[in-house]
Amino acid sequence: MLSLEQARERILDAIRPLPAETADLNEALGRFTLEPLRSSVDLPPANNSSMDGYAVRAEDLAAAGASAPVALRVIGTAPAGVVIDRTVEPGTCVRVFTGSTLPRGADAVVMQEDVRQNSQDPSSVLFVEGAPPWENVRLRGEDVKAGALLLEAGEKLTAPRLSFLAAAGISSVRVGRRPVAGLLATGNELREPGVPLEPGAIYESNRIGLAALARQAGALPKVYPLVRDELAATQAALEQALSECDVVISSGGVSVGEMDWVKAAFEAIGGRLDFWTVSMRPGKPFAFGCWKEKLLFGLPGNPVSALVSFVLLTRPGLLRLQGAREVLPRSIHATLSEPLANPAGRRHFMRVMLDERGGARSAGLQSSHILSAMARADGLVDVPPKATLAAGTLVGVLPWD
Ligand code: AMP
Ligand code: MG
Repeated sequence: MLSLEQARERILDAIRPLPAETADLNEALGRFTLEPLRSSVDLPPANNSSMDGYAVRAEDLAAAGASAPVALRVIGTAPAGVVIDRTVEPGTCVRVFTGSTLPRGADAVVMQEDVRQNSQDPSSVLFVEGAPPWENVRLRGEDVKAGALLLEAGEKLTAPRLSFLAAAGISSVRVGRRPVAGLLATGNELREPGVPLEPGAIYESNRIGLAALARQAGALPKVYPLVRDELAATQAALEQALSECDVVISSGGVSVGEMDWVKAAFEAIGGRLDFWTVSMRPGKPFAFGCWKEKLLFGLPGNPVSALVSFVLLTRPGLLRLQGAREVLPRSIHATLSEPLANPAGRRHFMRVMLDERGGARSAGLQSSHILSAMARADGLVDVPPKATLAAGTLVGVLPWD
């Protein structure tokens, strides 16, 4: 049986990112850059003022003080967006605003609150303190130099990164195509939510949660009708979904019972199974394989197992398909406020809740059919086999999304 890490390695090794496409920045949120992005401009592009005030030569104000005000003649006004064609010569200054390009000759800006009007001569203003050179000036290129790397290949386009690229004049980026992820649920007992439940039946709940997680991972979910536990029906459903999608995420029917048809059906249509068990709880039965250039993630049916194995094994695959460099979410660090015990012989990804003080505790019963604890949980803690993590232990909590 593979360890979780080995299974993830096998999945990532089998995946080649989907072809690149060009996306406008306003459609690129959450997607992954496929090539390094460099700046063609300096940021800021020119020295400019960080204040409303007066652009001066710092040298002119060396002797300024409350009892020795210095008068400088105002030779013009430079609103933001205008490059004034005047040079600040000794004894002069230019009225500027936040973002105004610094006029030639000036090397500092004095904020307007520190400047007095000159009642003797309205064409000049009075300075009652000095300004060190470059005070209130944003220097050309101090943020980014032309040619510098803005983002590496494989980085996620977050809101701040989109603003960063826009500031460098970039309007579109090469990103990995979003995978279409087909969602199948197998089980004779399953019924669509919204219809009355007859004896023996349960409501199907995996496709909705898995589709949501797939969407959060950047994929385009496509939900297929329920699949009966029969070889022919499973074959037909898998073949259709695999033909129409980049990946298929099925739930149920991957265990060893006579009613578990996913593996057999997948092989019958020409799929190559890579592995079908992983040493972890929940989510031990987990089939992964390739059909032509398409991928099958065969998740277990228990709702907790399905979602946990999505987070641990399926999402990394979906992210890698889009060209992501990092495919594992960053854990949230928390301190256990009560012990977490795993008496079983396999590592257990237990559902925990976080509190505002950096604490984490069990979200409730930890069996893989307990949906209430799953719904309460903020994430998962990896508890080693036959171990109890004591209260006070610092743990990493893997978030759902
Ligand atoms: P299986 O993996 O098919 O053996 O299913 C394991 C358990 O999960 C059984 O109790 C199923 O009834 C339940 N189950 C399977 N698929 C789903 C589903 N899509 N929604 C809710 N429960 C399910
Ligand atoms: Mg089943």
